[in-house]
Amino acid sequence: MSEKKALVSLARHHNISKAIIESLNHLKLPDLTGKTILLKPNVGRESDSSFGINTNPEVVSAIYEYLSDRFDARFFIGDSPIINTDTHKAFKQSGYTQLLAKKELQFIDLDEKKPIELSIPQGKIIKKIKVTGYWDEFDYIISIPVLKMHMHCGASLSFKNLKGIIYKREKIRLHHKQAPELIKHYKEQLSKIKELDIAIADLVHAFRPNLSIIDASYAQGGMGPSSGEIIKLDTIISSTNFFAADVIALAITQPAWTLKDVPHLYLISHYLPKMPSSMEQIQTIPDDISAFIHPLAAPPETISIKYKNVHLIDIDSCSACLSTIFNLLKNNKQFIDKHFTEEKPLNLAIGKGVSQSDLYGDTYLIGNCISKLKTDGIFIQGCTPVESKILARIKQQLGLETEETTSN
Ligand code: SF4
Repeated sequence: MSEKKALVSLARHHNISKAIIESLNHLKLPDLTGKTILLKPNVGRESDSSFGINTNPEVVSAIYEYLSDRFDARFFIGDSPIINTDTHKAFKQSGYTQLLAKKELQFIDLDEKKPIELSIPQGKIIKKIKVTGYWDEFDYIISIPVLKMHMHCGASLSFKNLKGIIYKREKIRLHHKQAPELIKHYKEQLSKIKELDIAIADLVHAFRPNLSIIDASYAQGGMGPSSGEIIKLDTIISSTNFFAADVIALAITQPAWTLKDVPHLYLISHYLPKMPSSMEQIQTIPDDISAFIHPLAAPPETISIKYKNVHLIDIDSCSACLSTIFNLLKNNKQFIDKHFTEEKPLNLAIGKGVSQSDLYGDTYLIGNCISKLKTDGIFIQGCTPVESKILARIKQQLGLETEETTSN
């Protein structure tokens, strides 16, 4: 085996704790004694679904047990979720209560302390970024994402999971960047590129995971990060090289893709030329990973809504607004079916890229980044406006009492 190759260890077991042990046993971890370690799962949403959206608590628990058995270290666990989400509630709802009760594991809401600003002089569009106020306390960051497809970024893996290090609404800033000249420059080689991809890639100059452990106990295909198809894979992918871990995660779930399908990874491979951007530069354990290959549905090129009586215009929204819309539709289907038809649908628009020519009929313009069109439709303020506010405005427009039941 070549010394220079990055090592990625894969393991599969229906008892996911055993897969964690097997996968980590093959890695050469540094001595973490005396270090302060952040376990950074993806717990970005208050989700009722137990798996495939937020990181499986069983996975995080097994990682904590494995490391705390070997190293006398200080362990933190935390995240900074999407806007309008309570961090503690998101962890509780996702099944973390038992793990958070462990005295030696300290839960932190990454947003609770005053942020620290990191400068990114090499950044193409992000020159500085506010991160969690806990930043200076961590010696070692372990990224524990769910393996998922992402409708805005191609896929969300161990590097993108560190977006949760960014302080509160600062995350939204990544979605607001406009760089038409830069996009034009990249467009020929990267047809899917958006400013968001460049902004995410810029972050690699500021922070990276020290260890990546990708949770594919349940993976998410299609309309990720929160509305895709959940597939049980019983698989763990780990590496001390985050980029190699992400490359292998793609190799087993999108074997026909190249890095160009996940533009932020493609850009990072150019920013950091020593990163192993192809399978040939990576040593896997086992050598032959063909048994792990399970293609997932790719994210759709354009977002469409499965309800016949709803038209959604989504151009360059963030997943926070898109998730709010999906939840609104899911939680109020009966109400929507009662008041809207295929001929007279509920028209919704989100995202900074929507222009006047995209609108038709009375359209609810949702979110601050569409406010430039506020005289062209029914504007609902907020970033993100909460589901109840959107629903109340729709009812008001329909001339209905707000007490009308909305559950289905
Ligand atoms: S309003 Fe929604 S889509 Fe616009 S920036 Fe805020 S979260 Fe993103």
